[in-house]
Amino acid sequence: MVDNFNSSLNLRLIKKCPVCNTSYQQSMVQVLDESEYGVLTYATCNSCGANLLAKFASLPQGVVGNAILTDLKPQEVMDFAGDDNIADDDVLDLQYLISKKELVNNLKKLI
Ligand SMILES: [Zn+2]
Repeated sequence: MVDNFNSSLNLRLIKKCPVCNTSYQQSMVQVLDESEYGVLTYATCNSCGANLLAKFASLPQGVVGNAILTDLKPQEVMDFAGDDNIADDDVLDLQYLISKKELVNNLKKLI
C-alpha cells in the first residue's frame, strides 16, 4: 500500500511558511521520523522563526498530509512521539486516582 512512498516528493510539498509566506529552502526541512506509515518533518522558517511540524502518509488515494505550528524543538517532538502504548494497568491506575480524587493532586506535583 505504501510501496510507492516517496519522501523527497513529499518534502517538496512543504513550500511556504504558513505564518509569513516565506518560501522554505529544502535544507530547512528535517525528516524526524520515517516509517511504513509515513514521514514526519519539521521546518523552521528563516524569516519569522515559526516551526512547522508536518506528517505525510501515502495512501492508495494519494499523499495525505497534515501540519501544525509548534513551539517544540525537534528533540522534544521526538520525546513525545514515542510509541509507548497505554497498558491496562495504566487505565486502572488512572481510574483509582480519579475515584480517590487524587488525580488533581498528583498532577499538581508534576508541575
Ligand atoms: Zn515564517
